Amino acid sequence: METQNFNTRRVLVTGGAGFLGSHLCDRLVAEGHDVLCLDNFFTGGKRNISHLLGKANFELIRHDLVQPILLEVDEIYNLACPASPIHYQYNPVKTIKTSVMGAINMLGLAKRVKAKILQASTSEIYGDPIVHPQKEDYWGNVNSVGIRSCYDEGKRCAETLFFDYYRQNGVNIRVVRIFNTYGPRMHPNDGRVVSNFIVQALKNQDITVFGDGMQTRSFCYVDDLIDGMIRMMNDPDEFTGPVNLGNPSEFTILELAEKILEITGSRSKIVFAPLPQDDPRQRQPDISLAFEQLNWKPAIDLDEGLEKTIAYFKDIL
Ligand code: NAD
Ligand code: UDP
Repeated sequence: METQNFNTRRVLVTGGAGFLGSHLCDRLVAEGHDVLCLDNFFTGGKRNISHLLGKANFELIRHDLVQPILLEVDEIYNLACPASPIHYQYNPVKTIKTSVMGAINMLGLAKRVKAKILQASTSEIYGDPIVHPQKEDYWGNVNSVGIRSCYDEGKRCAETLFFDYYRQNGVNIRVVRIFNTYGPRMHPNDGRVVSNFIVQALKNQDITVFGDGMQTRSFCYVDDLIDGMIRMMNDPDEFTGPVNLGNPSEFTILELAEKILEITGSRSKIVFAPLPQDDPRQRQPDISLAFEQLNWKPAIDLDEGLEKTIAYFKDIL
């Protein structure tokens, strides 16, 4: 007879074959939970989770979150949504449907089966922020009709839905606002800055800095981020958030390019290209709430995280 571990939970990860989702599945499988990974493979891929496919406590479901689905689970991590600007702008109507209808479908499921549910929200809900660094009580500066709006407003509406299901139906919700995260398994062609610069540097191609490169971002290594998400789900105080998760060390995009050139020893040249519309000028999380409530702060600095990420891309290119 198998011994039952009462700490084992049935956990659904939507977007589980993506960059963050696959790392989350790794952690949850290693902790012994029964993990259901749901994905439509729009930006994720089986290669990200192929190493988990033979495990007894891992299952893969091909499904589009825009359609309802009934599953028996204890916890839901809702990550399904393209995250890079080129991918979420490829089919903007689908992007907003995934955020909004996906949230409705998952919150309905959570309500029905009394599951705890965590939403992967984003620093994009602050838009092009006027307040710096961004704290959770800042309402943001978002264009509702621009090319980033399908993502930003979809994620904002999903947050609204989470808090309405919480107030109206007592659903046990957790909302994390994720700031730029990078690491192994980023898609080499997804257009995000860290993967773009590393791929360009490794191929000795021009490094494409958009605008003057003085815009800032704060980059969090994936392992730190996953740790914060799991702490949030497990928080015993039933803390709903929203809570910022990110690394507060802020860099200009030009500094990032120079750092990647130095670490890779590349012969690439930096070239300047037009800044995309509505590109936020600055972004840095205030993570004091995450530290107070979850005792969480990132442990891996940009140099160490870039070394690991560059090693991954060297391997796959
Ligand atoms: P990703 O594109 O690698 O992963 C998203 C996953 O969702 C992919 O596997 C994709 O195939 C899947 N997906 C998309 N639409 C779907 C649909 N309709 N039905 C089912 N699956 C669908 O991106 P990521 O970086 O891993 O991001 C994961 C989540 O975290 C996203 O919700 C994103 O908005 C959020 N987030 C990420 C970052 C970051 O820096 N990586 C920052 C803020 C927020
Ligand atoms: N960026 C850049 N060159 C690239 C890709 C991105 O200069 O090849 C810039 C982009 O304009 C933005 C920053 O890097 O200012 C971060 O872009 P990313 O798409 O990674 O994330 P987001 O804008 O969503 O934070």
